[in-house]
Amino acid sequence: MIQEMTSTEDVVAALRRCDAFVMISHVKPDGDTLGAGLALGLALEKLGKRVCYYQQDAVPRTLRFLPGAERISSTLPANLPEDTLYVFCDMSDMARAGTHVPRLSPENVLDIDHHLGNGLFGAYNYVLPTECSTGTCVMHLLRELGVQIDAGIATCLLTTIMTDTGGLMHSNTSPGALELSAELMRLGADKEKITREIFSNKRVAATKLLGRVIGAMHFSHDGRYCWSAVDDEMLSQCGADGEDTEDMVNVLLGQEGVEVAALFKAYDGELRVSLRSTGRVNVQAAAASLGGGGHFRAAGLDCSGTLADAVKSVDSALVAQGL
Ligand code: 5GP
Ligand code: MN
Repeated sequence: MIQEMTSTEDVVAALRRCDAFVMISHVKPDGDTLGAGLALGLALEKLGKRVCYYQQDAVPRTLRFLPGAERISSTLPANLPEDTLYVFCDMSDMARAGTHVPRLSPENVLDIDHHLGNGLFGAYNYVLPTECSTGTCVMHLLRELGVQIDAGIATCLLTTIMTDTGGLMHSNTSPGALELSAELMRLGADKEKITREIFSNKRVAATKLLGRVIGAMHFSHDGRYCWSAVDDEMLSQCGADGEDTEDMVNVLLGQEGVEVAALFKAYDGELRVSLRSTGRVNVQAAAASLGGGGHFRAAGLDCSGTLADAVKSVDSALVAQGL
């Protein structure tokens, strides 16, 4: 396996050379994985390339407004050429794309990401952990490629920034991120639409569920740790579904004195954990020690076993990181 970072010039040369592309986003897709893939794909289409968009799961309600989202499919055409380039956006390892992706040779893989601990799993790895989103990595590539960023592409890219910075509030909102955002707005990005579709306009069911999650908050470690949980029963009582839990972990982190928050999501036959930190405790390292991953301040993992087991092992992993 080739495990090296690729220069911007070499990635762009590969983008120019290939004629067919598959843009792949991670399971339980967010605005960054979808926005980055759509932005790059739509730009490559302007150069006359053939592009498919693959996602194993359904596109979440809040992201269906993304230009090109209607093109995203959970199947791949049978007649893709052998030298098709499969572009994985916003994931530290290939497994995050799900279980239905065909087996690929690294030669056919471009990995574009900004996560800590990316496995550099492609022949081409464009991994910039200081970038606020995978979309801004794509923006650097588009500049080098010399494609005109139209209003649709700009909306996709601004979505990646706004979702991964929590509406320009998280610590990754660098001056550079704001400058890129301003540039995207000048190019026609529809910031109002992004705000409306993703951040406001909450479903009443989601707000009811948030009330339940808040009611179930647990505090420990002298108030520095807050966790809560959602299960199938809570979802059905509120008329909500898993998509409505997006971002709730940030409400837990926002409580006075809290440095680390965890939301345990025990529904649809899975047990997943979202972790967030205000910056002292490395939740990526805690998640990685349990088989997950992410960023220093935002990470996630899959658990097996009971909720009580998961609560215990996550607590220990966080303590090992200084909680
Ligand atoms: P979320 O809590 O929003 O699902 O995820 C927070 C961050 O951690 C995101 O950047 C996401 O890509 C990453 N992440 C979440 N779950 C996993 C996982 O199971 N494995 C890895 N490697 N990263 C994850
Ligand atoms: Mn991201």
